[in-house]
Amino acid sequence: MPTYSYGCQKCGSEFEIFRPMESTEKVECPICGFTDTERVYTSFNFMGGSGCGSSSFG
Ligand SMILES: [Zn+2]
Repeated sequence: MPTYSYGCQKCGSEFEIFRPMESTEKVECPICGFTDTERVYTSFNFMGGSGCGSSSFG
């Protein structure tokens, strides 16, 4: 199961959770319990950023 990073819109804390891709339910902040959270795309293996370099993907 993939790990997703979420950021709380209320307290600003970031947390990672496991959840299936098909799940569209709101994620609750484990810190303050606020449900208005947004997915945060971490810079791991994601397009964008430095375009130069020798990336050897399949
Ligand atoms: Zn929060």
